[in-house]
Amino acid sequence: MTRSGHPKQGPLADALAQLAATVEHLGYDEGMHQMLATARREMQVSVPLRRDDDSVVVYSGYRVQHNFSRGPAKGGLRFASNVDLDEIRALAMWMTWKCALVDVPYGGAKGGVAIEPRDHSNRELERVTRRYTSEISPIIGPEVDIPAPDIGTNEQTMAWMMDTYSALVGHTVQGVVTGKPVGLGGSRGRATATSRGAAHIAMLAMAAHGMQPEKSTAAVQGFGKVGRDAARFLSQSGVTVRAVSDVDGAVYSAAGLDIIHLGAHVDRTGSVAGFEGAEALDPADLITLDVDVLVPAAVEGVVTADNAANVRARIVIEGANGPTTKEADAILMERDVVVVPDILANAGGVIVSYFEWVQAHQAYQWSEREVNDRLEERLTAAWHDVIQYASAHGLTYRAAATAIAVRRVTEAHRQRGLYP
Ligand code: NAD
Repeated sequence: MTRSGHPKQGPLADALAQLAATVEHLGYDEGMHQMLATARREMQVSVPLRRDDDSVVVYSGYRVQHNFSRGPAKGGLRFASNVDLDEIRALAMWMTWKCALVDVPYGGAKGGVAIEPRDHSNRELERVTRRYTSEISPIIGPEVDIPAPDIGTNEQTMAWMMDTYSALVGHTVQGVVTGKPVGLGGSRGRATATSRGAAHIAMLAMAAHGMQPEKSTAAVQGFGKVGRDAARFLSQSGVTVRAVSDVDGAVYSAAGLDIIHLGAHVDRTGSVAGFEGAEALDPADLITLDVDVLVPAAVEGVVTADNAANVRARIVIEGANGPTTKEADAILMERDVVVVPDILANAGGVIVSYFEWVQAHQAYQWSEREVNDRLEERLTAAWHDVIQYASAHGLTYRAAATAIAVRRVTEAHRQRGLYP
């Protein structure tokens, strides 16, 4: 811990270091720095669960609302055993910057429950989701804070949340969560939006740095909601995806993995491990593999001071939130490795979540083509904003993206003024 009570390592330390550098670049005073560094509202709840065998276990749950200056708070809900308040604080702050960068009218939030979903039946996960939703219901709502899926949660989790919140208020409220099943007011294209966005940004970054997809190779860490379709979209764009990993293992093929067949293998067995037509790889080696594009799409803090000097990719596309530690970021910058930051690379998800919320308000569903076209349009605009700012100010893409976002949030805050 530092004197201010903030951790020295971990996602919150990384997020606060990025903010401090941005505040310095923008020349803001200490009062504004504190406003931006501090969450507006934090809720910690107990989530008691009656297990299928009738025993009771109590989990910790969190919802952090970092900022509301530009609109209601928005951010995912994570189920993972190592979730803690500082991690959720960091993820909520990154959501504020992400929403501002891609210019959707939201602040940032994040939620989590410290539970390992793989150790629980579906019925138990339903009970945990409903109890957590009920506990945080006073501070969520379509005009207040709108959760979405993240690690360990999915569209079924969102359906349970919407149902629980609707039961509590006495009528159906589709706009309280996004990432719902399409039949319940979910948006077409939402399930693949984060991956589609990451692949789209990868194409823009490769073109800007003189790389051709057909002559390029990639490695993707994580084969969940983001990594799996990111690997598929990259492969469909002509990139040779040499390696992917998940929490249980990693697979490698110099000639390129068949992502569709790999997906079928994962549906059958639950993991990429053991996929025929590929060699087993030590998952730790994926980060430093000899590929052109590295897509960390699993968890935070995987590109670190220990491996950053050995990263061989020319471009890192941050599908996950916070995969690069602040120490690794400095090493990659020194080595001219291009890092496309999370708040841009994985923003496709929140953009289409915004479209889903708009559709809920309109009570009208858009076509998948309309969703995908509007997604690419917004991401392309944000990409150009970032590369122009980076080149005008001599900054990395992360520093430029954060500066654009922080400036927008600060402008909204100043226009609204400080109450009272
Ligand atoms: P998920 O739970 O669907 O998938 C996570 C994947 O990562 C799984 O394949 C899991 O096995 C793997 N994994 C976990 N720990 C790992 C490790 N140490 N090494 C390798 N693989 C590991 O989660 P997701 O929704 O795909 O989210 C992944 C990342 O993307 C997170 O950082 C999340 O915050 C971020 N993100 C998700 C979305 C979204 O729309 N789902 C949007 C923006 C950002």
